[in-house]
Formats: sequence, structure tokens, C-alpha cells
Amino acid sequence: MQFKDVIGQQHLKHKLIESIRSGRVHHAQLFLGDSGHGSLALAMAYAQYINCENPGEDDSCGNCSNCQKNYKLIHPDVHFSFPIVATKSKGPDDGDPKANFYAQWRELMQETAYPAYNEWIRKIGKEDKQGNIPVAEARNIIRKLSLKSYQGGYKVLIMWLPEFLGNEGNVLLKVLEEPSPKTIFLLVAEDESRILNTILSRCQIVRIPRIEPDEIKEALIKVLGAEPEKAAQSAALAEGSFRRAIEIYHSGEDNFFGAFTDWMRLSFSHDYAGLLNWAQNAANLGKENTKNFLIYALGVFRESLLVKQGIHSLSKLRGNEFEWVAEKFAPNINQDGIIKIVNEINEVHYLIGRNASLKVVLFDLSLHISKNLR
Ligand SMILES: [Zn+2]
Repeated sequence: MQFKDVIGQQHLKHKLIESIRSGRVHHAQLFLGDSGHGSLALAMAYAQYINCENPGEDDSCGNCSNCQKNYKLIHPDVHFSFPIVATKSKGPDDGDPKANFYAQWRELMQETAYPAYNEWIRKIGKEDKQGNIPVAEARNIIRKLSLKSYQGGYKVLIMWLPEFLGNEGNVLLKVLEEPSPKTIFLLVAEDESRILNTILSRCQIVRIPRIEPDEIKEALIKVLGAEPEKAAQSAALAEGSFRRAIEIYHSGEDNFFGAFTDWMRLSFSHDYAGLLNWAQNAANLGKENTKNFLIYALGVFRESLLVKQGIHSLSKLRGNEFEWVAEKFAPNINQDGIIKIVNEINEVHYLIGRNASLKVVLFDLSLHISKNLR
């Protein structure tokens, strides 16, 4: 992957390249940000750049043999580590517990460099199981990184989601602290509070910010052949995440818009029986769709505040949605109430990720909204 394949993030790309060109390469870096912001894509571009034979001022060359191998994910000095689930059948006995998962990993990487954990766990067909990075993998990493570099360049380990390293992950501390020369760890994480402190404290943190909506819009047009208006709308509601933008784009925000207006009508009229029914229907959408719907709802609430404050020009809403917000919704809402509602939605989004009952949390949320809307 080249930097030009990573959506947006110009400032950060420049900073990363500059650090490599000036020889300020920290041997343990933690790329921290939502996977939809491109943290894994950036780590892969970084690994390719640092081993490129003809690196340019703003990107790897894309043509040398190192670049080619990186493209195909077969560079012998660039290793990947990721959460897996325990399997009964043994892979080839080289001590790599991920041996059975590489085919799916390559498949995932061909589909997207902006994957979500759920997407991965579904791909390996273990949705009901808890993933982890087992101690056997930590030992495997130590062993691999102790080997001499094949191509004479940097040895790079890209670990996706170090949040899944249990306490046994501490066997990595020594090698994280004093790796052999020209060895780099790139840890790609979403939630720093779930990473072992001992690991966190040994890393230089590289924060991956949101992607600008315009850049997401352009990427949707380029990657999906999306229609510009719809691409702009999905991008506006995606909270800086390319992955969420794709989800919103595919899930059809028209349906979300209908569900949202129903929800607000019932909440305004304190129709609790209706809200209970609504929560049941929404829960039937399933966990991922519900989470996407909540992201959509957050977007509409945020835009409504802008409209209420008279900043129409900044609103990213268009067509029916804009008319409904401007004429019916925004004039009737209470600003402080909306801020409370937004916080509550964020909390519920998190709880759903932790497997809370959808119907219960959605009904609770509906009561909260009903109370704070006006
Ligand atoms: Zn190259």
C-alpha cells in the first residue's frame, strides 16, 4: 500500500515520511484511531515506504521489488499480527498460531484496508467467539524478529488491535524496549484504555485524526462509483470514518431517515407504547445496523443544532432531510437537551458494542430522548 492509496491525512502522511527521511524512526509506534480513519492503511504505507528501494519525497515508488512484495503482503520482513480464535486443528508446525488464518487475512486486506474487528471475526467464521492474541503469538513474534532481515532493510511488525493482548503479552516488553537493530513495531489500536499499560508506556503514540468529509466523499465516488450527492451525504454523517461512510452508503440512509423521523415524532408526543414498539423494530435490525443507525442519528442531531443556531450554510444535509430538519425539527428542539441526548447516544453505541440487549437500551434511550428533546 502506498501513501497515495490512503484517504486524506495529508498532514500526517507528510509528518510520517519526514520522520523516516530524517532518520527519526521510533522503534515502537502506536497508531491510535478509529479503524475507519485509516490507521492500518497508514501503518502499511509506512512499512512499504521504509523498505522502498527508491522512495520519493511523498511516497514509496510502488515499482521496486520490495514495494511489489508489500503490495502482495508477502514481504519476508513485514509481519502481521492480529486477533485470532483458538482452533482445534493445528496449522503447519512452525510455531505460528495464525498459520490457519493467513488466507482469510489476505482476503480481508484485498477487500479493505479499513477493516473493523467484527468484519474480521465474521470472516473467520467465529462471530460468537472472543478473539485474542495468544501468548504463543507473542513468542512467535519474538522468534520472527530475532531472525536476520531477508532483504537487508527494516524488519517491521504490524500488530492490528493490540487491545487483544492479554497479560501474557508482557513477554513482548523486552523486545519492545530493546529490539534488534532496524526492527520496528507498528501497533495499530482503536482504544488506548484497553491496551496493557506496560506496552502503552513503551510506545510513541501517533494519533490518527478523522478524515475530512470532502475526502471521504471523493473516495466513495472513486471506490464505489457513488453518486456525488449521496456520497456527500454519507460522508457528512460518517464521523470521519471511511468505513462508516461505506456502511451508511450501503444501508440506505433513506430508510434511516424514515426510522429517525418516526422516532422523533413518537418522542415529541411521549407515546411510550409507540416507542416500545419502535425499539423492538429497531432491535430487529441487528447490532451492526443499529450502531450505524445511531451514528446516523448523531449526525442529524448535530446538524440540527447548526440549523437551530442559524448556521444553515454549514449544514451537510440536503433535500428532504434538510427541509424536515429546518422546518419541523430544529425549531422545536432544546439545545441543552440535544447535547445530553448526544452523550447518551454515544454511551448506548458503546453498550451495544459490549453486547447489551438492543431492545432494552433502545427503549431506555427513547425515554431519555422523549424527556430532553423539547
Ligand atoms: Zn519501492
